[in-house]
Amino acid sequence: MSSGYRAGQYFKKKLRWLPAPCFNAARGTYRFFLRIPGPGECLGRMRRGIAQWRLRRMLSRIPRVARDRCWCGGELLPFRWHEGFGRCAKCGSYVNRQPIRDLKRLYSSPLYWHRVQEHAAIESRADLYRKDGRLERWLELVRRFGQDRRRVIEVGCAPGVLLAELQARGYHCLGVEPDEATAKWIHESCGVEIVQGLFPDVALPGCEMLLALDVLEHSAEPEAFMVRIAQLLEPGGIAIIQCPIDRYRLDPPMGEEAALAFNEFEHLFIFTDAAMRELGRRAGLEVVTLDEKPWHMRHELCIYRKPGDEGLEQG
Ligand SMILES: [Zn+2]
Repeated sequence: MSSGYRAGQYFKKKLRWLPAPCFNAARGTYRFFLRIPGPGECLGRMRRGIAQWRLRRMLSRIPRVARDRCWCGGELLPFRWHEGFGRCAKCGSYVNRQPIRDLKRLYSSPLYWHRVQEHAAIESRADLYRKDGRLERWLELVRRFGQDRRRVIEVGCAPGVLLAELQARGYHCLGVEPDEATAKWIHESCGVEIVQGLFPDVALPGCEMLLALDVLEHSAEPEAFMVRIAQLLEPGGIAIIQCPIDRYRLDPPMGEEAALAFNEFEHLFIFTDAAMRELGRRAGLEVVTLDEKPWHMRHELCIYRKPGDEGLEQG
């Protein structure tokens, strides 16, 4: 597929002139000038550009399937910012028109966790999650919404740091990962039990809390994904879903994050609040809130609750 690349150029960042401080010793002041990047920087950018081009070329060779309907069944309208995506006429979701078919191949450890995510390979991601604040935010959400719900499943749990932290706090944790090598690595490095398989087609026990953080947008079947969550949750159970949701009325949608959100290799859907409500309705889950602030735009939050046990109060 090549059309998406052409359309994606709208998002490409312009070559930036870097501000350079210049110290005036006589006055003891700094002045700032714009400078052109030096030869070393240019070489570094060129190397990164070539590596990116080679990766895209390899990913573009993985077979795709054509998609002409939204997950909700809605018709797809043209999306002017990226012709690789269409916009659903019913729920407003942005839908990848030619998603990669073999998701297990895409999310294999050597390809995904060491080439696609080369800037933060799986071995260094726990540190990244601690530094950028997302781990702390997730733990706070689990504490606030989970309360006494101690049996936790995390779908797409790599690098396993969240489950390891929860396990250390006395939660009973189980992770799910599509790739065998990744599942083994998490188990060995974090000591958390991991089930290998592509959710929702995985045999799992029931749970009181289900976490899917930056996973739903990678799923070919968001509705089946949410229905399975509802099956696994005990009555009164909580699901914390984090995914890109177009909430800000920006043009392009997601603003400066658009290039990362509309990633035609990884993301099959960018959702709307209407879509998240409809997914909950079809799965039989109540929306607890759509108003939680994300740790960073493009990682929006939805909290759901499975009805049925009014004894377990929500957070
Ligand atoms: Zn739709």
